[in-house]
Amino acid sequence: MEQRPIYRPFTRSNIDQLPQFQALAPELRQHIKAVSAVFPFRTNRYIVDHLIDWHTVPHDPIYQLTFPQRGMLPENDYQTMTRLIRQNAPESLVRQTAHAIRMRHNPHPAGQTTYNVPTLNGKSLAGLQHKYHETVLFFPSRGQTCHAYCSYCFRWAQFIGVQDLKFAAKNSDELVAYLKQHPEVSDVLVTGGDPAIMKTSALREYIEPLLIPELEHVQTIRIGTKSVAYWPHRFVTDSDADELLRLFERIIESGRHVAIMAHYSHPRELSTPVAQQAITRLRAVGCEIRMQAPIIRHVNDDPAIWMRLWRRGVKLGMVPYYMFVSRDTGPHNYFEIPLAKAYSIFRKAYSHVSGLGRTVRGPVMSATPGKVHISGVVQIEDQRYFVLTFLQGRNPDWVGRPFFAHFDPEATWLFDLKPAFGASDSFFNAGTEYVSI
Ligand SMILES: *Cc1c(COP(=O)(O)O)cnc(C)c1O
Ligand code: SF4
Repeated sequence: MEQRPIYRPFTRSNIDQLPQFQALAPELRQHIKAVSAVFPFRTNRYIVDHLIDWHTVPHDPIYQLTFPQRGMLPENDYQTMTRLIRQNAPESLVRQTAHAIRMRHNPHPAGQTTYNVPTLNGKSLAGLQHKYHETVLFFPSRGQTCHAYCSYCFRWAQFIGVQDLKFAAKNSDELVAYLKQHPEVSDVLVTGGDPAIMKTSALREYIEPLLIPELEHVQTIRIGTKSVAYWPHRFVTDSDADELLRLFERIIESGRHVAIMAHYSHPRELSTPVAQQAITRLRAVGCEIRMQAPIIRHVNDDPAIWMRLWRRGVKLGMVPYYMFVSRDTGPHNYFEIPLAKAYSIFRKAYSHVSGLGRTVRGPVMSATPGKVHISGVVQIEDQRYFVLTFLQGRNPDWVGRPFFAHFDPEATWLFDLKPAFGASDSFFNAGTEYVSI
């Protein structure tokens, strides 16, 4: 039996103790110090020892994914923070300055805490979002953090306390009451942060109340998680890993489907023995694992990466599901990719996997009017257009109908696009939302 690895996080306050950090070039250490004062940073022993190839830092994709990068701050903000840190400025001044910089980075994408929040008997329900008929999102308060933070994460405001957790649910009482009145809901998606950060006992308290006969219409419990990549021991060697698998088994015994919505960004996350064991163990109890992630510059903006990710995923018995476009918040400029380029990367990867990998849909924007798929680029006479399709719509009648926008090689989000051939303006509604990937 292998030794049980202990979860050990590294953050701005103890990063000096990490040997790989000590070995970095001084300017890289400085970038980490300056940028992590502004944006949240957390990594762990597994990631630094097993996923990052330190010979290729700073270009290593997992380093880009989890460590703060200079380009995440505008140049003048970077200079300001660096100066303060070099001068050993008081922590209060560092914090105050960092706060002012953050406020300029769209910490609250439009309507994120109030949009799609359902009501029950006139009271709005904290910790729930219900946008598409079939699926309710559930945000348990104890699951609103992660084993490591993705540098592009749109939940960054919550990790540093700019945004409080009032939106999250302390228990599932209101969820149960709401679901009793909503027989159209077939799926509950437990999300965060990462609900697998919770102890099994806590997760069980949230989920078990859903398994009652009155809620038979809830046929699928989805768990949105990055733990499979950032801390696969959660499903293998953690002290309550077996108990977690038993909880999933109980859901399945109740006649329901458990869908693990696994956040995988790069094939390297599937390369370690423990990552593969996590997948095997989840599948052995009957969970289905679906793979999804955003396409991110510096991390996975290459068709070969997605091709390998989907191929390896299928080989391990998983189902490729979504390739997302990342949204407009936080250090967006450093990570964003034009829609046209995302589409081109998607198509190249998609055309090189077997039909079993072509269950994936992408690139997809989770935007205000719905989940919008970039289905293609067409040329009609001498003009080019994007062909777009709603995979999910605020109005279900929109789903599955193609619509058009003028081609724009620079556009990075739906609201950059101009409707063509009479597509409704409401399809291009500005604003982003607070929803999980
Ligand atoms: C993506 C998403 C879902 C789930 O959509 P599926 O296409 O069924 O995976 C549910 N609610 C919201 C708000 C979403 O953004
Ligand atoms: S993208 Fe997901 S896994 Fe990554 S930090 Fe954000 S919530 Fe956590």
